[in-house]
Amino acid sequence: MRPSPDCSLCSLCRERTRIVLPDGDPSSGVVFVGEAPGETEDLTGRPFVGRSGKLMERMMSEEGVSRSDVLITNTVKCRPPGNRDPTPEEMVACRPFLDSEICGSRVVVGLGRSACRDLAGYEGRMKDIVNTRMTIKAGGRDIAFIPTFHPAACIYSRESREAFRMTIRMIKREFL
Ligand code: SF4
Repeated sequence: MRPSPDCSLCSLCRERTRIVLPDGDPSSGVVFVGEAPGETEDLTGRPFVGRSGKLMERMMSEEGVSRSDVLITNTVKCRPPGNRDPTPEEMVACRPFLDSEICGSRVVVGLGRSACRDLAGYEGRMKDIVNTRMTIKAGGRDIAFIPTFHPAACIYSRESREAFRMTIRMIKREFL
């Protein structure tokens, strides 16, 4: 299920340029879920193509994984003004679209705090749960869930980059 091109189910419709739909292979069984589109994504209509997306792509490539090997999406499909966090109401409004993207998957990778809060109800520090194995429900199914740092957090932190690389290795070893 995809939002209509003029979706106005939440207030994020007011300032978006484009709805940013998932990118990659929907049949891969592996779904990366970030927080929300940023400025470059809003302009291009493609998720994770800005600075942090390029870093994510490079780290994946260095581990032998292409972005076309997985599905990449966000909890909300429209850019929050000024890149603020999406509100709980906006996440709830967009959740049916996210659920349809992840319900048939084997594993969901939660990129950062916002995605982990939306998908797993986790409110604590990311470093306490990164690369642990969790389970979430979508479409009435239990789905493996792996929390990791958002690529934006990896730009200035070598520790976060190493943890992210470990996430990619886990995914490659067990799910691709
Ligand atoms: S964020 Fe989702 S629910 Fe809100 S307007 Fe965009 S597509 Fe519709």
